[in-house]
Amino acid sequence: MYAHRIDRLQTSMTAAGVDAVLLSVGTDLPYFTGYEAMPLERITMLAVARTGVPTLVVPELERPRVKLDPAFEVRGWGEMEDSIGILVELVGDARLVAVGDQCWSGFLLDLQQRIPGAFWQSATPLTLPMRMRKTPDEVAALRATAASADRVAARLAEEPFAGRTEADLTVWIEAALREEGNEGLSFQAIVASGPNAASPHHHGGTRIMTAGDTVVCDFGGRMGGYCSDTTRTFMVGEPSESVAGAHAVLLAAQQAAVAAVRPGVTAASIDRVARQIIDEAGYGAYFIHRTGHGIGLDVHEHPYIVEGNDLVLEPGMAFSIEPGIYMPGEFGMRIEDIVVVTDNGVDNLNRSSRELLSVR
Ligand code: ZN
Ligand code: ZN
Ligand code: ZN
Repeated sequence: MYAHRIDRLQTSMTAAGVDAVLLSVGTDLPYFTGYEAMPLERITMLAVARTGVPTLVVPELERPRVKLDPAFEVRGWGEMEDSIGILVELVGDARLVAVGDQCWSGFLLDLQQRIPGAFWQSATPLTLPMRMRKTPDEVAALRATAASADRVAARLAEEPFAGRTEADLTVWIEAALREEGNEGLSFQAIVASGPNAASPHHHGGTRIMTAGDTVVCDFGGRMGGYCSDTTRTFMVGEPSESVAGAHAVLLAAQQAAVAAVRPGVTAASIDRVARQIIDEAGYGAYFIHRTGHGIGLDVHEHPYIVEGNDLVLEPGMAFSIEPGIYMPGEFGMRIEDIVVVTDNGVDNLNRSSRELLSVR
């Protein structure tokens, strides 16, 4: 599989006139090799030329972690060795070098200084067309972790909320994600209650939840490196008329946007479907973010479901549909599912209840 991906990368390098691709920390490296660099100061970097076997340059002490298939060469570097020099030797005569977006600037600046004659560009135009269209195996991984997040959402609806802090519920959600089979988290879970729920990326803190709060819970895990990401909004006790009314609008918008997903329509058109329904109900000013983001090895990646993105959706693309309504000082709510574009429509990977669920 990795040899095949490298093959496709080398073909697009040739077509684009790129002489070398360099991938370091971040998710491009595991996508192409299965190996994730330790995000520390010692450099790990894969050097890919247009032809031939790519070389992974890795700190000697981390070499025992590296289990690559024979399509790669591994070059360990010792503590006293010039690691940048090894890379310069591998790609030094390249004219056009493409670097992964998540490579640290410190590594890149060192390389640029030592290879002054080269032109530098992002590797994303080469990697994106591959990474954005998920293979059946990738979809299976997304589906498995989405199902685990759904099980956590169902268990969450049985938990007591009142009297607990947001931080306490955050810890509970994160433990539940691991219990449900995830190897880790895709991001720190968000628990945002009462007025805090009006802040979409609120970091759960010491606020104690109480009757009358809406509580936005946004969380996801990782399986085989692939991320889940789902949001459900809970109600401590019974909702007021204004909360119930806003949630009905939000649910209609979210479901309409999911139903609009199919090959051949643009990413922007999906954003418009959700936004129009929220606008027409008078909440337009309170839907303050894009409708969704792609998901895969990264929890946020292309394609972004946002006005202005005229990318045409294709089978295999996976992304969130997550409109929200945020009333400053009062309440907030969001509903988020991960969907995959199929040959003739959409597959919604999340199945847990999207209703405003009353909790104790
Ligand atoms: Zn978000
Ligand atoms: Zn989310
Ligand atoms: Zn999301």
